Amino acid sequence: MVGGGPAGAATAISLARLGLRPIVLEAASGPRWKAGESIPPTANPVLDRLGLTSRLSQAGLRSYGNKSVWGSAAAVEQDFVFGTAGAGWRVDRIRFEKELASAAGAAGVDWRYGARVVGCSRRRPRGWTLHAVIDSKPSSYEVDVVVDASGRAARVARLLGARRIRYDRLVGVLTYGSIGSGSARAGADSTTLVEAVGNGWWYSLFLPAGRLVVAFMTDADLLDRTGARRPEGLASLLDEAPATQSRVLAADADLAWSRAQIRPAHSGRLSAVYGADWLAVGDAAVAFDPLASYGIAAALGEGHYAAAAVADHLAGRPDALFDHAQLIDRTLAHYLILCHDRYGLERKWPESAFWRRRHR
Ligand SMILES: Cc1cc2nc3c(=O)[nH]c(=O)nc-3n(C[C@H](O)[C@H](O)[C@H](O)COP(=O)(O)OP(=O)(O)OC[C@H]3O[C@@H](n4cnc5c(N)ncnc54)[C@H](O)[C@@H]3O)c2cc1C
Repeated sequence: MVGGGPAGAATAISLARLGLRPIVLEAASGPRWKAGESIPPTANPVLDRLGLTSRLSQAGLRSYGNKSVWGSAAAVEQDFVFGTAGAGWRVDRIRFEKELASAAGAAGVDWRYGARVVGCSRRRPRGWTLHAVIDSKPSSYEVDVVVDASGRAARVARLLGARRIRYDRLVGVLTYGSIGSGSARAGADSTTLVEAVGNGWWYSLFLPAGRLVVAFMTDADLLDRTGARRPEGLASLLDEAPATQSRVLAADADLAWSRAQIRPAHSGRLSAVYGADWLAVGDAAVAFDPLASYGIAAALGEGHYAAAAVADHLAGRPDALFDHAQLIDRTLAHYLILCHDRYGLERKWPESAFWRRRHR
């Protein structure tokens, strides 16, 4: 596996359980922060299957619903209690990544932090040699199959000639803060709040340890026009999102506007998600708009099924990797319709470039 996020960890855990000997090469020197803290209840079956549920209770808090101000001025609440999959999760992302690596280690996965894959060369008759850099020193690994789980970078797939296809230019501007000492009641709200505005939308979520994440989602080319790159510009954009603003005020949160992080959040896929003895999973294969809250669940699920495809491929089933590609295609087709429909529900700003692009 190249990459030790949710997709790489899920693939590796499932491969180890199938009796294979996976190795994870992860560029970061340890568990690191990433955007994305909300895991919907639909992820519960795969979390259970991977043995992650009890670990999540240490890395996260339960989430009992979503709220949206989308398509009308009033907030609409979706309570998970009316679904069949139970509650979702709000995670401390660094803890979550740590639990993934620890679960993989417990399953017998050889997990190497600080190993950045920079190249690969074909072995005959099968397999690849992966070239990595560890502590500034070159190192190489001979593997039968490469799983590209390197996230949006899709490092290996792109080295092998696959192209990244982008459907939009969405980015997220994320700000974190701690809630005020007298505001525990506000912080007990477990919902993700999504609120549409003229040039995009906001999401916010109370996290473990009394923290709050507030993110403004817009298109990369609108960052300057909206002022979202500047701390004061970003803070003043919140005036357009009254529900999110009252959440921040009620929580007395000390949001660090000057340390806001800008992250790519576009929908995209690879032109090819598999080839000779390689396949891509998670964001590397297909990346989702955070509006769907789908990235982590999809990465875990795809990883789990990719492991079965790898095992079948190694056992000689000729179409095993093609089946993986079909699963990715079906997931993407379902998601694109869902995403288009959700954006179609918001019609308040017909002149806005952000919304016009999504209503095309
Ligand atoms: C603003 C924003 C908000 C989001 N919110 C949510 C949310 O609420 N819920 C949700 O489910 N999802 C959310 N997501 C998406 C979610 O975080 C991702 O879908 C998920 O992390 C994908 O997992 P992954 O394992 O495919 O990739 P990643 O988590 O990106 O992991 C890839 C790993 O590969 C490593 N790597 C990269 N290159 C190399 C290399 N050359 N060699 C070795 N290792 C390498 C990286 O260090 C990284 O650890 C959000 C995303 C954004 C941008």
